[in-house]
Amino acid sequence: MNDTTEHDTTEPSRSSSARSGQPHVVVVGGGLAGLAAAAALSSTDVRVTVLEARRRAGGRAASFEDPVAGGLVDACQHVAMGCCTNFLDLCRQAGLTDALRCDRTLWFIGPDGDRAACTPSRLLPAPMHLTPLLLGMRHFSVAEKLALGLGMLKLARYREPAGGETSTAQAWLESVGQPKRVIRLFWQPVLESALGESIDLVSTSAARKVAVDAFLAHRDAADMFVPTEPLGTLFGDRLVAWLEGRGVTVEAGRSVTSIERDAEGRASAVLCGDARTPCDAAIIALPWRQAARVVPDLVPAADERLAGSPITAVHLWFDRDCIDLPHAVLVDRVSQWVFRPDAAEGRQPGYCQVVISASRGLLGGDREALVSTVVAELRDTFPAARDAALVEARVVTDPTAVLSVRPGVDAFRPAAVTAVPNLFLAGDWTATGWPSTMEGAVRSGRLAAGATGRHLDRPVDPLTADLAKNPVVRLLTGYR
Ligand SMILES: Cc1cc2nc3c(=O)[nH]c(=O)nc-3n(C[C@H](O)[C@H](O)[C@H](O)COP(=O)(O)OP(=O)(O)OC[C@H]3O[C@@H](n4cnc5c(N)ncnc54)[C@H](O)[C@@H]3O)c2cc1C
Repeated sequence: MNDTTEHDTTEPSRSSSARSGQPHVVVVGGGLAGLAAAAALSSTDVRVTVLEARRRAGGRAASFEDPVAGGLVDACQHVAMGCCTNFLDLCRQAGLTDALRCDRTLWFIGPDGDRAACTPSRLLPAPMHLTPLLLGMRHFSVAEKLALGLGMLKLARYREPAGGETSTAQAWLESVGQPKRVIRLFWQPVLESALGESIDLVSTSAARKVAVDAFLAHRDAADMFVPTEPLGTLFGDRLVAWLEGRGVTVEAGRSVTSIERDAEGRASAVLCGDARTPCDAAIIALPWRQAARVVPDLVPAADERLAGSPITAVHLWFDRDCIDLPHAVLVDRVSQWVFRPDAAEGRQPGYCQVVISASRGLLGGDREALVSTVVAELRDTFPAARDAALVEARVVTDPTAVLSVRPGVDAFRPAAVTAVPNLFLAGDWTATGWPSTMEGAVRSGRLAAGATGRHLDRPVDPLTADLAKNPVVRLLTGYR
């Protein structure tokens, strides 16, 4: 560590680097945003320290030790899609892709229990690659499938009104005549799981992003990547070990309380109570509430402008395996998604997880009722579950799992660059153009690292490109 007393504000990088010759960047928060920022900076001539409050890095993409499982269980199943180019690139860089399973077929289970294997074509060019996916949805009539396809194209062409956006996705879908069944059985499960918020609250532009990026843009956009190792192992152990191998210091159990500023208002050190870590620049990669406590002048206090949306995971241990699909979207039920880890993934037989997004007020908060409902729905859907005994259940709810992407919220999402020249912001809630996701978090970290690199005159690799849209998609959607 550098000396704690020297302060030189004439040069941006002198105060902490004067002795080592290498600027020191402190990243506050070891979630995916902070780790991605550290990864990007580790390719430059910069010393990087990540300070993480918890015992293990990884943030919301976390696991907990469970006595029933006898090991790590993910607090909530996380998945990424083919369009998450920066997240996947980080996983590739860090050698984590062996622990990402690609599910190209999306399984939908209709209200009558009909199974629909929806697989985008690898041969047809976008957006025609979606035709087999659409045809696979057996719970829709031909007219409904046609309406859905047209609705997707209309949504892709939606543009935010000049005076600012007020419409929610639900209101907009109704206004363009999407049939109620199509809204309930397609748009609701798809948008709510992609955005983590209910469709009567999310903005139409957030919905449009899902339609374009996750479906229409490219043949591989809708591929689903499912971690096959606990998130705690994947990000908390393996990603951190890779970073440490690149010279990054990751200090767990370090709760940052404030940022020390010099006479000119620049960040001179990061404070954990009395402990002081000098820095030439700092990246605050915290969720918005914690960021507002550490840098109150840069982040507005949490209020209705930046609201969270809850996600609930129901962990179930049956006495035997009873879910015969790797995952399924359960349409028109309380249970939205069910995930069954492969036996090869080292998880206990009989374990599965049900994920419910936008779960505020779910069954009046009655956990027992929730477990009973979810188990009944699984027994209704998966015949093998009827004879299986439930051994154990856990309900885990994160009340502010993701930023609620309501109309107008983008105006309040701050950029990485702040009014303080050597302080930068990252986090899935900052202005990335993406919803609050692992991809949004990684993008934010890379954007903050890019801005830090510019400040320190150490260029950082730019963002990974989006999946290329072919001319037909560009013509249809109006996007480049
Ligand atoms: C239940 C749930 C399900 C989700 N499902 C998905 C999904 O399927 N796909 C997807 O892409 N995304 C999903 N997400 C969203 C995804 O987890 C987040 O977008 C992403 O992990 C956010 O990363 P972050 O680094 O911005 O923030 P965080 O992960 O919150 O990281 C912030 C870090 O800062 C640390 N910290 C807090 N205060 C301090 C302090 N004072 N000092 C030092 N450190 C501090 C925290 O401990 C944490 O490690 C889900 C989230 C939840 C909660």
